[in-house]
Amino acid sequence: MKCDMCQAEIPAGDEHDHLGRTLCEDCCMEALSPMKTCDPWAVYSAKSFEEHMGGDSTLNPIQKEMVAILEDTGGLTPQDLLSRLGAKLSVEDLQREFAALRHMEKARAEKRGDRIFWRLW
Ligand SMILES: [Zn+2]
Repeated sequence: MKCDMCQAEIPAGDEHDHLGRTLCEDCCMEALSPMKTCDPWAVYSAKSFEEHMGGDSTLNPIQKEMVAILEDTGGLTPQDLLSRLGAKLSVEDLQREFAALRHMEKARAEKRGDRIFWRLW
């Protein structure tokens, strides 16, 4: 089994399924935390901007829909969320929107068993 991202050989049992790709531990972490290099001030200003704007007004329509679906279901795998959103966006778009929601502390990833679920914060 090879990692789809870095092509490293993955020991049996250590592979991670991420949005249909097989990733090694490191790439999976990387894929799940696209915002990890950004500074805390960005989060702070995003939050205070949101407060200033009043509630959810900073969410775009797709993000609002994602939040509504996650609220409805109590959490979904990225694949399930994508299929519920229909063909409106690509996996990359979904990842970016989710990263934005994470950034605003609206949603987060959670490991249930050996699968990653996205849920509200
Ligand atoms: Zn890898």
